[in-house]
Amino acid sequence: AEPTRTNFIRQIVEADLAAGTHDRVVTRFPPEPNGYLHIGHAKSIALNFGLAESLGGQCNLRFDDTNPHKENLEFVEAIKTDVRWLGFEWGGQARFASDYFERLHGFAVELIEQGLAYVCELDAEQMREYRGTLTEPGRPSPWRDRPVAENLELFARMRAGEFPDGSRTLRARIDMAAPNINLRDPVLYRIKHGVIHHQTGDAWCLYPTYDFTHPLSDAIEGVTHSLCTLEFEDHRPLYDWCVEHVSVPSRPRQIEFSRLNLEYTVTSKRKLTELVAEGHVEGWDDPRMPTIAGLRRRGYTPAALREFCERIGVTKSENRVEMAMLESAIRDDLDAHAPRRMAVLRPLKVVLTNYPEDEVLNISAANHPKDETQGSREIPFGRELYIDRADFAEVPPKGFKRLVPGGEVRLRNAYVIRCDEVVKDAAGEVVELRASIDPATLGCKPEGRKVKGVIHWVAAEYAVSAEVRLYDRLFRVAMPGAEGQDYRDDINLDSLEVLVGCMLEPSLGGAQSGERFQFEREGYFVVDPDSTAQRPVFNRTVGLRDSWGK
Ligand code: ATP
Ligand code: MG
Ligand code: MG
Repeated sequence: AEPTRTNFIRQIVEADLAAGTHDRVVTRFPPEPNGYLHIGHAKSIALNFGLAESLGGQCNLRFDDTNPHKENLEFVEAIKTDVRWLGFEWGGQARFASDYFERLHGFAVELIEQGLAYVCELDAEQMREYRGTLTEPGRPSPWRDRPVAENLELFARMRAGEFPDGSRTLRARIDMAAPNINLRDPVLYRIKHGVIHHQTGDAWCLYPTYDFTHPLSDAIEGVTHSLCTLEFEDHRPLYDWCVEHVSVPSRPRQIEFSRLNLEYTVTSKRKLTELVAEGHVEGWDDPRMPTIAGLRRRGYTPAALREFCERIGVTKSENRVEMAMLESAIRDDLDAHAPRRMAVLRPLKVVLTNYPEDEVLNISAANHPKDETQGSREIPFGRELYIDRADFAEVPPKGFKRLVPGGEVRLRNAYVIRCDEVVKDAAGEVVELRASIDPATLGCKPEGRKVKGVIHWVAAEYAVSAEVRLYDRLFRVAMPGAEGQDYRDDINLDSLEVLVGCMLEPSLGGAQSGERFQFEREGYFVVDPDSTAQRPVFNRTVGLRDSWGK
């Protein structure tokens, strides 16, 4: 990987360390366990963990678990797996905002005691009405000036479960005329009965809001720099208000950066949840999904995702990154590291009529053209081979350099062959070619003529039959759901092509789930966990060249 690039947040943190504002940087990655992580989260993970790692600090993994009805332990575990897979470690145990429920409750009591919070009896709709608009100030709730003692008593009864959902909230008492609507007495606590929280069970029927929980959890953990996406910029005054008005041990600073948006996909957990729930994909780890789990199954490496995050950088400007950026990161990694193999995806049999039936020939071929340390493997040759249907044309288009009737082509690592006869079935379909080798061309140039084309092949007798899954973009358009349309109308219905009966060179027979290869002339492939010893399954990670926008 290239060296870590700087960005405006790194510069702020470095300046704070240089000025002695903090001895050590502490960041956090705060996912809500209501879905699997996606490529956008990878950007946040790379930033938060990457900063801490490179500056000798600490990054906490903290589950933002204040919305229990959408959260569960499967998501908690999947998130941990993905963060670790990306190559990051959090110090000690994973943390949960719910670990702090008792302390947060204490902070709320502190606010009430200072006259800075009150129990409100407006329902959600009334509250919206009272809140005002961007151009009109809000109106004070009729409950805004309750005496402290009454607020304390009511808040205790809320906690004790005496009131139904929605009947009361605890609100901060800030400023109903504030130009920033987030400061117009925001809700701090809601009543939610009957939910079993994955961490705290039924201990609470009061749940703190994100705006209250997040700054105070950061402060409790001694987070120095709380990095979040731009939509929270307007919440920063409230973030600061919370930290200022209760007795927390530290004063974290919120800094916003722009979200990652990627072309031809969606990076919203709600939409990804729908894609899974409605069966548009096979699961969270479907290789077409922009989830970390999907990208892993697709054959992406942690190094490529980290490198991608470095390349896109961290700024405040909203933009949409081309899919080609993501693909070039994995292509570069696999080009450098993936062993080369021959695999025929759409087999056409070739019989070499002048090659002796019982001749045993094993050809040694380098595993990697640019990396000798990868060694070599033996590839058996034989009288019957498979080549790809696309490498033969009975009526060749202009410029076709592969096999044609009467023409010659080189078999990669082996002989030059000439096609002598085309065998067809009753329907006129080409089912076999008969060809002859030039025995003088094993590893040498043919005499007196040029043979331009080189094609890959697999010896029929030793071939391993496999299923190969080819993926296309999940959406037909760069910005699914643009202009208020349903993003689901933009789903590409031909995003998966399954090829069966593909023929692989025998060294691929024992490949283990997760192993990655370049299939020469075809692209980069990874062994899918659906594989069995009898039937390996490969996913195409990416083609050899950028094909976007073509
Ligand atoms: P979504 O909008 O997909 O539901 P979220 O922000 O609600 O995402 P969280 O689980 O709360 O999801 O996200 C955890 C962290 O990851 C947050 O700090 C959030 O800002 C960050 N994050 C989420 N999506 C992106 C993205 N597309 N680009 C960069 N950071 C992101
Ligand atoms: Mg969130
Ligand atoms: Mg969300």
